[in-house]
Amino acid sequence: MKELMIATSNAHKVEEFKKMLEPRGIVVKSLLDLEEQFDIEENGTTFEENALIKARSIAKHLDIPVISDDSGLVIDALKGAPGIHSARYLGKDTDYKTKNTIILSRLADVEGEARSARFVCAMGLVYPDGKEMTFTGTIEGYIHDKIEGPNGFGYDPIFYYPPFGTTTANVSDEMKNSVSHRGNALKKLMEYLDHEEA
Ligand code: IMP
Repeated sequence: MKELMIATSNAHKVEEFKKMLEPRGIVVKSLLDLEEQFDIEENGTTFEENALIKARSIAKHLDIPVISDDSGLVIDALKGAPGIHSARYLGKDTDYKTKNTIILSRLADVEGEARSARFVCAMGLVYPDGKEMTFTGTIEGYIHDKIEGPNGFGYDPIFYYPPFGTTTANVSDEMKNSVSHRGNALKKLMEYLDHEEA
């Protein structure tokens, strides 16, 4: 049976991958199954580079394909910030209510279309023989004028998604996942794996 390693210790992400991959007969492993700890420096300049850096550094210890993802929020009016620095933007220990409030105040004078933003997710797939590829998914929206919604995490409460008429924090996880950057990247990866299996 085919095995894949997901290079994450985030149980929520592992479950999301399992839901998609296990029905395809793929056994999903994660860093939670390994005893060794990995401290990986994500020093790439793009989401794709960072996803591959993570996947490569785990793949060299294993003999199964490794998948890793890197994601973040790109705000056009902030020249692409927080971008690849999304997790540590405004301080890695700063809570998101504070981060989101600061972002809203930085965009106080920015109106309409100029508030455009997108979540981006790049997934890297690295094989034991060194073959590697990336799959990128996005979701396009705007920075809202206030913090709104109890669900999601991170920047979801300020990310207004027009088809929902509200933020991605104001819908169920299922609804968000069906259109999200991560969901879209995962769909591309699945299409590739299905094709590869054939
Ligand atoms: P990661 O690469 O998936 O760990 O994401 C890095 C950072 O991007 C997170 O810590 C969040 O700040 C932000 N981010 C990524 N995806 C989302 C999302 O779906 N909603 C809100 N924030 C996100």
